[in-house]
Amino acid sequence: MTLTHAQAREIASTLTIETRAFIDGRFTKAVDGGTFESVNPATGEVIAAVAHCKGADVDRAVAAARRAFEAGEWSRAAPEARKAVLLKLADLVRANAEELAVLESLDSGKTVRDCLHEIGNEVPNFFQWYAELADKTFGKVAPTGESALALIVKEPAGVVGLVLPWNFPLLMAAWKLAPALAAGCSTIVKPAEQTPLSALRLAALAAEAGVPDGVLNIVPGYGETAGQAIGRHEDIDIVSFTGSTEVGGYFLRYAGESNLKIVGLEMGGKSPFIVLDDARIDDDLVEHAAMSAFWNGGQNCSANMRQLVDRSRVEEFADRVAARARAFAVGDPLDPATDIGAMVTGEHQDKVMGYIAAGKNEGARLLAGGERIGAPGTFIEPTVFTDLTAAMTIAKEEIFGPVLGILPVSGLSEALSVARDTPYGLHATVFTQDIDRAIHLARRLPCGTVAINGFTEGDIKTPFGGYKRSGSLARDNGAEALDQYVQTKTIWFSLNAAE
Ligand code: NAP
Ligand code: MG
Repeated sequence: MTLTHAQAREIASTLTIETRAFIDGRFTKAVDGGTFESVNPATGEVIAAVAHCKGADVDRAVAAARRAFEAGEWSRAAPEARKAVLLKLADLVRANAEELAVLESLDSGKTVRDCLHEIGNEVPNFFQWYAELADKTFGKVAPTGESALALIVKEPAGVVGLVLPWNFPLLMAAWKLAPALAAGCSTIVKPAEQTPLSALRLAALAAEAGVPDGVLNIVPGYGETAGQAIGRHEDIDIVSFTGSTEVGGYFLRYAGESNLKIVGLEMGGKSPFIVLDDARIDDDLVEHAAMSAFWNGGQNCSANMRQLVDRSRVEEFADRVAARARAFAVGDPLDPATDIGAMVTGEHQDKVMGYIAAGKNEGARLLAGGERIGAPGTFIEPTVFTDLTAAMTIAKEEIFGPVLGILPVSGLSEALSVARDTPYGLHATVFTQDIDRAIHLARRLPCGTVAINGFTEGDIKTPFGGYKRSGSLARDNGAEALDQYVQTKTIWFSLNAAE
C-alpha cells in the first residue's frame, strides 16, 4: 500500500476529524465541555480541539462498560460471534487505512509511509489474528478419580482500562484492544494526549463492525486526569499500560491505593545491540544497526541505542553506521520519500537535544548529526556518537529519539556484563557467526526478546514484553496476550456413583 505525496496532501486537506470522546456507543463532548489541542509537530499547526475527559467522563465510560459486560451481549456471546465482528473490523480498518494513516501522520509527526504500513497491514492483522483465536482457545479438564469432574475454564476478566503511548498510536491500541475484545472484555481506552485522533476514528469503525454499545469506549485526556482516573477507578478490573517506567510505577500505586486491580505494564528500555569480534560487518548488519536505532525517529521502546561493539571492529562499524545515518531523509512526514518525520512535540525535541548536549559535554565523540532541522517543525538529524563509556548519561538513560551510541567492549564477557548493567530488560540484538556464543548470550541476557543476526521485535505470534523495569509478567502479542484479559476459574463437580 502506497500513497504519493500529492495523494497524501489531498487526503490531509479533506479529512473530517472526530474530536469527541466515544462513550456507550456515541460520540460525546466531555462532561465539563473541556477540550485540549492536538498539534501537528511537523508544522506546529493546531489540527483539532479534542474532548478533554476527566474523572466524570471516565465514570460514565466505566458505567457503560460494566453494564455491557454484565448484560453479556459481548462477554457471554459465542466466540464465533465475536470473531465475526472483529473480522469485519479488520476489513473496515483495511478499507480506511489511507485516511487513518494520513490522520495519524498529521497527529504524530510519524511518516505516512510507516503509518500506512502499521495501519494498512499490522493493525487489521491484529484484529484478524485474535478474532481467529477467539474460537480456538480451550479450557482444561484436571485429572481426578471418578468421584469428581474438575474443569479449568477461562472467562473474560471484566472491565479493562488500556492506557497508551504516542509512538505507535493505533498499533498500540490494536495490540491491546484485539485480545481484550476477543476475550470478551469491555474496554476503556485512553490514547496519549499527543495522539488521540486515530483511536477516535477506530471507535466509529468498531461500532460499524458491530461492537455493542459500551464494549469499546475512548476517553482522550491527560495522564493526570483521564489516566489517573482509570488507574484509581474502583470498578475497573484490569489496567494494561504501555509507556514510561515512571508512569508504570504510578499505576501500581494507583492500584494499591484503590481496588487492587491487576496491572499489566510494558515500559521503557535501553536495549543493547551487540557486535562480537567475528560478526560480518556488511550492508545487512549496518542496515539493522541503523534501523534498530532510527526507525520511527528512535521513538521506539525496543530501540537498540547502546551499540556494544568489539573494540577490534569499532572503527569500521562506526564509519559505516555514521554514513548510513547521514543518508536518511528527514522532513515532511507526508512525503513518501521521507524516512524520519518529526519528534512528537517541541518539548520532546528539547529533551532529546538535551541528551545530545550531554553526550558532547561528557566526552562522547560525535560522528553524525547532532542538530535540529527546520522550524517550526520538530525534526532532529539522525545522530551517532562513539567512544561512549558505561557511566555516560547517553549510555544509561532512555533517550527516545534518534541518538545512537557506540560503546567499545573487549570480548564476549565484557559485552555481556555491560549489556546486563541496566535497570531495563526489553530487548537485545546479537550479531555473531558463532552459534554457541549466540545461544550463550540469548540465555544470559535478562530481557523479553533477544534477536540473533537481525533486529526484530518478532511478530504477531511471538509475545513481547519486558524483564526488570521494562515490564511486568504481562505480554502483548502471541497467544500470551489473551492471558492479560482472562480470569481462570475452577469448577469442581463432586460425583456420586450413577448406579
Ligand atoms: P508516558 O508519558 O508514560 O505516557 C503513557 C501514557 O500514560 C499516556 O497515555 C499518558 O498520558 C499516561 N500518563 C502520563 N502520566 C500519567 C499519570 N500521572 N497518571 C496516569 N497516566 C499517565 O509515555 P510516553 O511518553 O507516551 O511513551 C514513551 C514511553 O513508552 C517510553 O518510555 C517507551 O519506552 C515506552 N513504550 C514502551 C513500549 C513497550 O511495549 N514496552 C511500547 C511503546 C512505548 P498523556 O496523554 O498525558 O501523555
Ligand atoms: Mg498531535
